[in-house]
Amino acid sequence: MSSVAIVETLSEVQKFLDSPQKLLINGQRVDSCSGETFEAYDPSNNSVLCKVPKGNAEDIDQAVKAARQAFEKGPWQKVTPSERGKMLWKLADLIEQHTEEFAQLETLDNGKPLAIARVADVALTVDHFRYYAGLTTKIHGETIPISVPYAPGAQFLDYTVREPMGVVGQIIPWNFPLLMATWKLGVALAAGNCVVLKPAEQTPLSALRLANLFAEAGFPDGVVNIVTGYPEAGAALAAHMDVDKVAFTGSTEVGHEIVKASAGNLKRVTVELGGKSPSIVFKDADLELTAEGVANAIFFNQGQCCVAGSRLIVHNSVYDELVERVADKAKSIKVGPGMHPDTEMGPLVSREQQNRVMNFIGSGKEQGAKVLAGGEAPGGEFESGCYVSPTVFSNIEQDMAIVQEEIFGPVLVASAFDDLDEVIERGNDTIYGLGASVWTRDINKAHRVAAGLKSGTVWVNCHNIFDAAAPFGGYKQSGYGREMGIHALESYTQVKNVIVQLG
Ligand code: NAP
Ligand code: MG
Repeated sequence: MSSVAIVETLSEVQKFLDSPQKLLINGQRVDSCSGETFEAYDPSNNSVLCKVPKGNAEDIDQAVKAARQAFEKGPWQKVTPSERGKMLWKLADLIEQHTEEFAQLETLDNGKPLAIARVADVALTVDHFRYYAGLTTKIHGETIPISVPYAPGAQFLDYTVREPMGVVGQIIPWNFPLLMATWKLGVALAAGNCVVLKPAEQTPLSALRLANLFAEAGFPDGVVNIVTGYPEAGAALAAHMDVDKVAFTGSTEVGHEIVKASAGNLKRVTVELGGKSPSIVFKDADLELTAEGVANAIFFNQGQCCVAGSRLIVHNSVYDELVERVADKAKSIKVGPGMHPDTEMGPLVSREQQNRVMNFIGSGKEQGAKVLAGGEAPGGEFESGCYVSPTVFSNIEQDMAIVQEEIFGPVLVASAFDDLDEVIERGNDTIYGLGASVWTRDINKAHRVAAGLKSGTVWVNCHNIFDAAAPFGGYKQSGYGREMGIHALESYTQVKNVIVQLG
């Protein structure tokens, strides 16, 4: 692809990249306490986009203090649910007005195709904030008819109130930087919490751009604080004794660390972790639509989705035909810079991630799996970027690393099955349980497999479908707690019971 055709960077984006980047603490844009910075990269060519403040434990402490002050003493306490809703709606409007700017920043920082950044990342972000804007006025308790048998004759009124947790620490990954920030912030703010957000070091820019909008949307100072930095900043937030809840999205490995770190003050924890999601195909499925669907399930967002359909399990009778179609689709995907209008798959997020994925591909080859498509990092004009070709493996064994471990890249492993019980068992044969899809025209098979899978989400004849109203989260080591929908309110509020003896 010629670089001439690359979409021109908006002047607003260039201006943002050229301006000094700052943390957001107590409504102020500030440097890190240490004065240290780190570089944000464009993974399509590994050029430096800008420098970003490297916050550490000291910055996190200041941000937590600001959030505490805003929660206990600031005007936030007196903001009504309806006013909170208006602020969230205004925030959505402001993001929507800057759609192209956010989309370009996301593509430059993360590598994803610009068309995807517009419709998946930014449009879903706007919709998500609007969903929670509507929910602010629907968070309520209940009245409970209590009997109290040891107080004969007495009358009581018992009611519950749903109150915010307080100060919430939120730690997010790099695969959908703006959208992951949104999934965290929308519900937390709707429920009346104050937040300290730590973006991933690979993709800090859209969160820093978002930081410019909270005051304009009407949020009081200190309600949202954003601290960019390395893992030590995240670790300080997870361990902080004055944080009431920590919400983490990222790897299962770091998820374990977060849970341990939270023990100091028994803060509430929710963790959204990794996956190794199966796409299960029965022989009656529409093979062309299914081939398209299961290819998209793994290759969307360069395979860097926690629910990527990374294990394809196909009925024996159609295995060869379907897998060949999927391999053909993998070979036809246009790989290139996200800013190129024809690109269907961009680079991975970083050189480190590219090397990690290539090591998995190497281990699959060494252990005797057969490469049907891809299997390499494209050379030539692509060498300066973090590209990996869409890859399909067959002839796999269940105990191979490429079958058991989350690769988080465009790598699919395919295997065949004979009967329904076998495919449910194989579908469940990992430590994860985040997503799964079933492809069939037989309604009985679809529901039996959906019932048998230990998975937070099961899609039927689709994959990667998300909506602000639909709950999302893991079974097993994919984590606990739910994001989105009314279910997410559970973990951002606590229930107070009030018992009144009537005179
Ligand atoms: P990661 O290494 O676990 O990092 C996630 C976040 O945690 C980053 O902000 C990271 O900061 C921070 N962090 C790292 N070590 C930490 C520590 N010891 N204490 C506190 N925070 C720490 O994951 P990633 O490589 O960014 O993202 C890929 C992983 O996320 C995949 O496993 C994927 O499945 C998972 N994921 C899950 C979901 C879901 O909803 N279930 C969604 C998206 C991604 P630094 O950036 O500075 O390292
Ligand atoms: Mg970057």
